[in-house]
Amino acid sequence: ERFDAFGLSADILRAIAQQGYTTPTPIQAQSIPIVLAGRDLMGAAQTGTGKTASFSLPIIQRLLPHANRSVSPARHPVRALILTPTRELADQVAANVQSYAAHTGLRSAVVFGGVDIKPQAAELRGGVEILIATPGRLLDHIEQRNTQLSQVQMLVLDEADRMLDMGFLPDLQRILNLLPASRQTLLFSATFSNEIKRLAASYLRDPVTIEV
Ligand code: AMP
Repeated sequence: ERFDAFGLSADILRAIAQQGYTTPTPIQAQSIPIVLAGRDLMGAAQTGTGKTASFSLPIIQRLLPHANRSVSPARHPVRALILTPTRELADQVAANVQSYAAHTGLRSAVVFGGVDIKPQAAELRGGVEILIATPGRLLDHIEQRNTQLSQVQMLVLDEADRMLDMGFLPDLQRILNLLPASRQTLLFSATFSNEIKRLAASYLRDPVTIEV
């Protein structure tokens, strides 16, 4: 299996080559076509499997019609939202997204708690298509009207089991209620506990399940 068999754009393939990736990992081989097809997905995968690229690459591909270099924030509403349990994971995911989208003109940003909110607010107010966030800080930004979620087409819940373990369910529910019902939702979790299955039953639509 090769990356150029998925129908990803040349700008994305160039970024993949610059990362030094030659072959998709098993979760990437399974996930990329499902996400490109617009399906919801439940993925059982640990960090280290190539999980981040398995959702980031097809999300970037699906956003390409919206890539533009306009300076107007109104032209850059958030279209993909990636939620993670910790600032460390948010930072890692954001670095990956940034490199995969480097040649596309799409803008991304990362927000998490424990640091000054003002520089994050300024970045959000400039407009970003792809937002990586921890749940609590995202809600702070929404309350401050630094961003809004009415144009989100794709949602990723990364390490969903850890988000539940850390007590983020109420925050997740508040965020999920702000999103369009017609979005695509991808949920990644190390395990599929009953709690995770309940979350999926409430917020995913006819998901494809993959395990690696
Ligand atoms: P992740 O599971 O997303 O945290 O990725 C683990 C590590 O594997 C990261 O350092 C990625 O840059 C790297 N990686 C992801 N996909 C590939 C691939 N297809 N080939 C080689 N390395 C990869």
